[in-house]
Amino acid sequence: MITTLTLRSIIPTISPKPTISKMNPVQCNDNNEKNVVSPRKWKGKGKPSYGTSRRSVIKKSFSQEQVQFSSPISTTDPVVGIIGGGMSGLLCALYLEKRGIKSTVFDTGIHGLGGRMGTRIIDPQPLIFDHAAQFFTVTDPKFGEMVDEWSKKGLVRQWHGAVGEIEAGGPFVPFPSSPPRYIAVNGMRPLADSILSETSLVNVVRQSWVSKLAPYNGQWYLSEKGKPCGNFDAIVIAHNGKCANRLLASSGLPLIARQMKRLDLSSIWALLAAFEDPLPVSTIEFEGAFVKGVDSLSWMANNTKKLFGSGSSGPHCWTFFSTAAFGKQNKVPQESIPSTTAEKVKEAMLEGVEIALGLQKGSLQRPFYSRVQLWGAALPTNSPGIPCIFDPHGRTGICGDWLLGSNLESAALSGMALANHIADYFQSGGTSPDEFAVGLDNKFEPLNGHDIGQFPGLESQGQINKAHDLQLTT
Ligand SMILES: Cc1cc2nc3c(=O)[nH]c(=O)nc-3n(C[C@H](O)[C@H](O)[C@H](O)COP(=O)(O)OP(=O)(O)OC[C@H]3O[C@@H](n4cnc5c(N)ncnc54)[C@H](O)[C@@H]3O)c2cc1C
Repeated sequence: MITTLTLRSIIPTISPKPTISKMNPVQCNDNNEKNVVSPRKWKGKGKPSYGTSRRSVIKKSFSQEQVQFSSPISTTDPVVGIIGGGMSGLLCALYLEKRGIKSTVFDTGIHGLGGRMGTRIIDPQPLIFDHAAQFFTVTDPKFGEMVDEWSKKGLVRQWHGAVGEIEAGGPFVPFPSSPPRYIAVNGMRPLADSILSETSLVNVVRQSWVSKLAPYNGQWYLSEKGKPCGNFDAIVIAHNGKCANRLLASSGLPLIARQMKRLDLSSIWALLAAFEDPLPVSTIEFEGAFVKGVDSLSWMANNTKKLFGSGSSGPHCWTFFSTAAFGKQNKVPQESIPSTTAEKVKEAMLEGVEIALGLQKGSLQRPFYSRVQLWGAALPTNSPGIPCIFDPHGRTGICGDWLLGSNLESAALSGMALANHIADYFQSGGTSPDEFAVGLDNKFEPLNGHDIGQFPGLESQGQINKAHDLQLTT
């Protein structure tokens, strides 16, 4: 049974909000190539520069002219291009299908869809680790219905193993079993790969890295390093971070680009480690724990027990996550981690495990398999607190966890909300675009939560006190 506490209080109803006053439109409704967006002169202080530094990308984002489609929308067969196949992009496609709208999802995933719903399977044993999202909670009834459906199909189930908090060598303190915690039965990535399996209006293109958006002839043309990816009546940016900022820098969507630029993201190290023997956890044999008071560790979970049950035998696969502070201190380019950094991080995190479990330094058994990975754009630390962003003149929307919070439920709700908003916009024929502008100038507020996300009902006492203090002082 799914709990049906409501997120309504934090999801404002999407209301018409005519906010597109600063635009300098470029028409894209006829066949004239001049209508393709070209960057306007930089009007800020100093010399314009369109190099590749962070500052120049910002200048470029803010100085570009706004695309303005004015051709009628195809009411018979509009198609949406969704860039990003994480939870938000997948649910956006699913909910567009529910409204009879076709879409194509592009995702970079090598092994599968899902983005931060990653599962790593190491053959031949195999060793299985969820290496980002570990579990999720449900508060919204709409997401609850979705989770019920997944549950009936055998894709997700409740995680009954003990989950709680542990403070540097102190006792493990279990969280109550309610609100329930859910896991994907075979790991998060198989869940992501299944979400669109019964759709007929969704086309999935993987492994594809969309590198350019160009408006032409009343549509968006997407391409990957010069190779065409198709043309679409509207597009959805369902990813964030450096990649999205680059894609938006010269897209002709300055309002969307500005909102994306306001997002701050943490960095988190993941250590996947397989041990021959069980770890000496504590008097209560826990399966997942938020770790307090240890610099290098914020979460540890026995993924073998989580996925295969407490009676499972064989190697013990643990996923450990660092704190965001440790991630920041030890940040390197995530695509090319120097081996010395990888080794240093691994040792610091294993030492963190010893401290968390109150073991003597050097006494922890060595893992027979280990791998570190940096999530360079791990979790949002601020949010506009709105389900989605939509620029009706540029026929482009954004969905993602960061619009509402930092967890899978936020990502799912954001994807659903954007799909319904785009469907309503299409239904309107696009004749009163300003009524469909949403989230283009919402202010961002800091997000509180655990280093690996927000889990309503599972906040630590420290976080409840912090939230309470904030309420009293604002
Ligand atoms: C270490 C860690 C632990 C976490 N633990 C939990 C947890 O236990 N519970 C929980 O609820 N949440 C957790 N989260 C958060 C959760 O994973 C995210 O909130 C959620 O997965 C975000 O989904 P999304 O669709 O917004 O983005 P993403 O999952 O990031 O999806 C974006 C997708 O877009 C793709 N993409 C990017 N650029 C392009 C491009 N140019 N072309 C095509 N595709 C592109 C990416 O490859 C990616 O697949 C965790 C996150 C991290 C990093």
